[in-house]
Amino acid sequence: MTLRAPARQPLEGAALRAGLVRDGLLVETGVPGLVARTAAYEAVVSGIDHLVTEAFAHLAPGYLHFPPVLARTAFRRTGYLESFPDLMGSVHVFVGGDEEHRELLRRSGGDERWEEVLEPSQVVLVPAACHALYPLLAGRLPAGGAAYEVRADCFRHEPSDDPARLQSFRMHEVVVLGSPAQAEAHRAAGVELAVGLLEPLGLDVAVVPANDPFFGRAGKVLARGQRDEGLKVEVVTTITSGRSTAVASGNCHRDHFGSTFAIEQYDGSTAHSACVGFGVDRVSLALVSVHGTDLSGWPAGVRALLGL
Ligand code: ATP
Ligand code: ZN
Repeated sequence: MTLRAPARQPLEGAALRAGLVRDGLLVETGVPGLVARTAAYEAVVSGIDHLVTEAFAHLAPGYLHFPPVLARTAFRRTGYLESFPDLMGSVHVFVGGDEEHRELLRRSGGDERWEEVLEPSQVVLVPAACHALYPLLAGRLPAGGAAYEVRADCFRHEPSDDPARLQSFRMHEVVVLGSPAQAEAHRAAGVELAVGLLEPLGLDVAVVPANDPFFGRAGKVLARGQRDEGLKVEVVTTITSGRSTAVASGNCHRDHFGSTFAIEQYDGSTAHSACVGFGVDRVSLALVSVHGTDLSGWPAGVRALLGL
């Protein structure tokens, strides 16, 4: 049964943020797009994660929960730096001795560039959960391809006042690797499953063609190509007034990751891949936007689905 979304008007971003904090769901850190989450908020996220797992259980996916950092060498090969340099984040560490330590403390106390005393580490911040998977799959897939359910805390440098545009957020994705037809079928079926998961929660969603925010002038051409070829679709809803926001995305990568990371189908040809990614923080925020900040007042059916 699909619950009709109540006629609650979406709030302005600032008002939604204020309500989330006032009513004990999130705590602001002072950095735009960086929030601490309370147990009540996390209960909603867990409920959504559980629904995603259930919806894709028929694929019997392997499960990997990644750390929030990824090997720099692997990251370099994903193509992220070529396409989205403005969104990345890199981890730097201190490897000096006493003298450098004194210098680090001196610089970090003032306005000087303390990062000059730091060294790049082996890791960067994960920008998308599925990017941590492909580097691990070099080699031949089983007959019939492979499916993985992956989760990660992701970072994207896009500071914003929009409560739904976080710098640090959770992504829960289901990835299929195999033939071109398998990848395309997963994207199509996965987006339908996403809609079937979100509507009963009272969200009014639409599936729309989309493109990634490729960087620079050349990026405009890439974005148009991605859209024209139907490689990305988003499941969007209204979280704050006046804009629609993607709560889930379906991406066909063709053989991009297969060829980059030497992932082969069973017959030796390059594997294709597709992912369906849920922005579980955005789904939670969308639910708060529709049903309010008092979780105890949410419709019984929604609470039951989320295990609240
Ligand atoms: P790709 O496979 O093309 O590299 P992806 O599917 O793994 O990308 P996106 O489509 O960019 O990643 O994002 C997946 C989902 O993550 C989005 O639908 C959205 O719900 C969520 N998301 C993306 N950016 C943010 C953000 N800044 N804050 C909160 N959630 C976000
Ligand atoms: Zn993905």
